[in-house]
Amino acid sequence: MRVTAEVPVESVVQVLCDVCGNETNCSGGKHEYGTLSAHWGYASSRDGDRYMVDLCEGCFFSVIEYLKEKRVRSDLDSMDDLHQSSFGLIR
Ligand SMILES: [Zn+2]
Repeated sequence: MRVTAEVPVESVVQVLCDVCGNETNCSGGKHEYGTLSAHWGYASSRDGDRYMVDLCEGCFFSVIEYLKEKRVRSDLDSMDDLHQSSFGLIR
């Protein structure tokens, strides 16, 4: 026998950008945002620390541009690869 009851369910109704504070775009109930996350393990000096940052489209791609520039400064040979828009992109 199954016993049923109405239970409140928590769901995400809005995603605010953790950098600029703006609401992220939403279309058809699907929020458009990027997430930068990390869970550091035993070998890290930050063992056990967890990070999660939700970013609007503008802030997400600002971070990507920053990372591209940082990589170019550390490895000039990679400059050609990074001029492509595929840095970090998973297909
Ligand atoms: Zn933002």
